[in-house]
Amino acid sequence: MEGEVYLTEEDLVRIAKHISADPIDFEAKYVHRNPRTLRLRKPSDRQCLFHRDGRCSIHPVKPVQCRVFPFWPEIIESAEAWNETAVRCPGMNKGPLVQIESAEEISGEMRRAYPQMYPSP
Ligand code: SF4
Repeated sequence: MEGEVYLTEEDLVRIAKHISADPIDFEAKYVHRNPRTLRLRKPSDRQCLFHRDGRCSIHPVKPVQCRVFPFWPEIIESAEAWNETAVRCPGMNKGPLVQIESAEEISGEMRRAYPQMYPSP
């Protein structure tokens, strides 16, 4: 998922409403849809179009993947993956300790939100 901002159908509608846009117009302008995924188009000057003035401009309605980061299945699956991600994310390893059970529960939200990316074994 690295470098891309994937949306659920609910994310799309919620974000469009938050910025007072029609969901169909919002999708046409800002979203790539393919049969499996929805993802935000990237502007040429930054990783995410909602990253403005050093912060997330849609914080209250940000997509599931942003809300649950860094507790993504592929990040919590090993200490190596966690540490590699932490090198690039200054916010990691700073807050209170999160037990692995809680991290797994949170990561379950990613599996439910993006089942096409996390097929059941
Ligand atoms: S947290 Fe906000 S600015 Fe950052 S990637 Fe997600 S939507 Fe974009």
